[in-house]
Amino acid sequence: MPEHLPPELLALRERAQAFIEAELAPLEAQLPAGADAAGVDAATRAEVRRRSAAAGFFGMTQPREYGGSAADALTLTVVREAFAASNLLVADFVLGPGPGALAAATGGLRTRYLEPLMRGEQAAGFAFTEPSGADAPRPTYAERDGERLLVTGRKSYVSNGPFCDFFTVLVNVEPAGDAPSGMALLVVDRDTPGLSMPRQFTTLDGSLHCELAFERMAVPASNVIGEVGGGMGRALGQIGDMRLAVGARAAGTAMWVVDYTREHVSQPHRQGGKLADREGVRRILAEMMIDTYAARSVVYRTARLAAGGADVMNEGALAKVFATEAVGRVVDQAIQLVGGNALITGHPLERLYREVRSLRIAEGASDLLRLNVARGILEFGAGRV
Ligand SMILES: Cc1cc2nc3c(=O)[nH]c(=O)nc-3n(C[C@H](O)[C@H](O)[C@H](O)COP(=O)(O)OP(=O)(O)OC[C@H]3O[C@@H](n4cnc5c(N)ncnc54)[C@H](O)[C@@H]3O)c2cc1C
Repeated sequence: MPEHLPPELLALRERAQAFIEAELAPLEAQLPAGADAAGVDAATRAEVRRRSAAAGFFGMTQPREYGGSAADALTLTVVREAFAASNLLVADFVLGPGPGALAAATGGLRTRYLEPLMRGEQAAGFAFTEPSGADAPRPTYAERDGERLLVTGRKSYVSNGPFCDFFTVLVNVEPAGDAPSGMALLVVDRDTPGLSMPRQFTTLDGSLHCELAFERMAVPASNVIGEVGGGMGRALGQIGDMRLAVGARAAGTAMWVVDYTREHVSQPHRQGGKLADREGVRRILAEMMIDTYAARSVVYRTARLAAGGADVMNEGALAKVFATEAVGRVVDQAIQLVGGNALITGHPLERLYREVRSLRIAEGASDLLRLNVARGILEFGAGRV
């Protein structure tokens, strides 16, 4: 399926590859040896954004009204896969943020938050996940207080939170008279009184996150995106958009790993000959290729459907499950074939082993997405095979 791309997408893929070699590889070479995601400093991230904007990649995820090129799902899949297949850390910062749930913002929310976000001047975090456990407070809620909402609660996992200027927070607005109640997405400035960041943490993949706490934090009711009651749908819509992106990234990473492993097993081995001469090794390499081929196929098929305007809620979920589990197997097998060196801190496969693990949990855990896929077909008659 990736083979039957129209000429303009083939040309785009070549342009992405040329950009990787000419612009990204030199920046990557300046990173400290063995760096992971957190090792890309703010100045390097800004330089990647500058080069990417000049080359026309940054705005591909953004609507035309903000100067973006609003690329469709297939086009984005081509570039996301190409950048992931470079296995460069700096490639993560090439595409600009999409509007996400803020796409529905109007008036002040639009000028104050959405527009600076699109220009890359401000960074936003998405605060959805609630803590679990015996000491978990009740889920984040908001009380009406005239024209304000008073928010109380905690969010356990906000990616890049310490770098963010504002957050989109899912809250449950409590009933009060005739005013609408229910789930709402609220835009909150990082320096709002009553908001604190009790914990920052890095994860296995090297990325930085935080926990947020709200103590009767006062936010204007006009900071609700869309309507009170529609917050969960908007939040899940945003997550849905990200699933195909995660799948494309997983597929690109798997391509890099297959290439790397093929190179490795084709080198002379100390026991004589090459590992590639042994049948057991060939079988493992074939398994890696099968997984990679299948992951690319499922991601591209879904991207074509989405680009054609189809609803791919179910297909996006299953593409994410398949591609992220496939890349997990591919990296694991590559480590087995490369042996002890692959486990040395700073080895590209050591880093990838950590990096791809989180893909099976972030943006929807595989187990829950499987339930969604089954629910889609059983309860809504949705989803293709
Ligand atoms: C790298 C990374 C970045 C993240 N970034 C963000 C972010 O920016 N914003 C944000 O809000 N959240 C973020 N998260 C949190 C992420 O959304 C949650 O981790 C994820 O939704 C799973 O929720 P949980 O961790 O609370 O696990 P739980 O919901 O407690 O689930 C734990 C496990 O229990 C099992 N399970 C749970 N429910 C069921 C069920 N119904 N049936 C069968 N099995 C089940 C599954 O195996 C699941 O993996 C991030 C997570 C990671 C790893």
